[in-house]
Amino acid sequence: MAELFLRGQPLADVTGTPFPIEAVLFDKDGTLCISEPMLHSLASARVFHACELLLQRHPELAASQGDELGQLLQRAYGLCESAINPAGATAVGSRSHNLISTATALAQVGLGWPEALELSESVFAATDGLHGQGSEHRPIATAGLHDLVQSLQDEGVVCAVISNDDEAGIEAFLASQNLRPRFQVLWSADHSPRKPDPGAVHALCAQLGIQASRCALIGDANSDLRMAQQAGVPVVLGYGAGWSISPPLDPLFPCLQHWSELQVRTAAA
Ligand SMILES: [Mg+2]
Repeated sequence: MAELFLRGQPLADVTGTPFPIEAVLFDKDGTLCISEPMLHSLASARVFHACELLLQRHPELAASQGDELGQLLQRAYGLCESAINPAGATAVGSRSHNLISTATALAQVGLGWPEALELSESVFAATDGLHGQGSEHRPIATAGLHDLVQSLQDEGVVCAVISNDDEAGIEAFLASQNLRPRFQVLWSADHSPRKPDPGAVHALCAQLGIQASRCALIGDANSDLRMAQQAGVPVVLGYGAGWSISPPLDPLFPCLQHWSELQVRTAAA
């Protein structure tokens, strides 16, 4: 059993008693790893292919309708010129969420829904190779992560991932960092329920054999933090250093900017 300290202060209940922690559940994108260059390249490619396919299949459309689609998709994806909106669909949503957003934008420029969905599937099939470790912009670990994971392991605290990336994407990132053996359970978009359903936390905790009340959860999206709170996780922390634009995290939750701000100590007997 361990206790967590943030910048030297115990993460404690109202009486000042530190919460005993047996597991830490980490979000992946923007928390365990810096994914922004990869996600920017992926979202840009989805916009490019969607506009190109639309005009190829519908030569009767004016180029301005391609431009309109591009703008709709950029807003839907949270794609800025040189950044990704950390609260946007590319950063927070799953592949299937973004596929539906794409189809919705195509419907807004005049396509019927079946064709909009089919064209979106083609766009995603053409760009899926830019996601994850296949990308030339491979996600890298956030600064200090390896040291924190080591100190958690040294204190017997279990690590797990709770992410809306698919399982292959989580596995590939952890393997690329030699961190796979350090994470006991991965809860991905392939599991049900998914984040941000608090049931995802409970199902993950059941796999760990650890109660949610003995966990901490760290994420870079308010949806992560509120999910954890609703699931009864006592230590819920925001992580703000994973994006070039700071995520707009609810100040209700303590936030850290570097993993060295978090310390792990053996719980007092
Ligand atoms: Mg995230």
